[in-house]
Amino acid sequence: MNIVVAKISEEEGLSLQYVFPEGEPALVGEEAGLIGRCELNLRATRAGDEVELIGSVNAAVGFECDRCLKPLSVPVEQSFDLLYVPPLKAGDERELGADDLSTGFYQDGTIDLDDVVREQVELALPMTRLCTEECEGLCPDCGGNLNDAECACKLNRADERWAALSELKSKLN
Ligand SMILES: [Zn+2]
Ligand SMILES: [Zn+2]
Repeated sequence: MNIVVAKISEEEGLSLQYVFPEGEPALVGEEAGLIGRCELNLRATRAGDEVELIGSVNAAVGFECDRCLKPLSVPVEQSFDLLYVPPLKAGDERELGADDLSTGFYQDGTIDLDDVVREQVELALPMTRLCTEECEGLCPDCGGNLNDAECACKLNRADERWAALSELKSKLN
């Protein structure tokens, strides 16, 4: 989904509501994906080649618990206010300050709204992706979910440690 900058009326701007096909846009380089249909609402205004996008993204993003791989989802409701400018040309006087994090660049006279959505969804993703803080994760031996039941592997490992210890003791004696 793109908008062509030249088609944004300088007088009236452009209002847009778009519902993406299910699961789109795909999140690149993320072990996460959109669930269901993502809705984008925005209002674009243009002054020369500078475009301001104000709007919101509504979606649900799905991912797996980092420890136990249980499927999880969080709703995304992100509002944004972004400035888009063409790429800086050599010798361009315009400089972007470090605080201009909400300034983006568009290429070839079009703004890629998939990228806008991806960025907003990534901002909304939790830093730690755990089903609960106390998630026990998976057993490294049998792959069983340790939140559901304690598997026999832990007991076996304890037995091995005791065996090693008693062996050591017998050597010392
Ligand atoms: Zn978990
Ligand atoms: Zn196990």
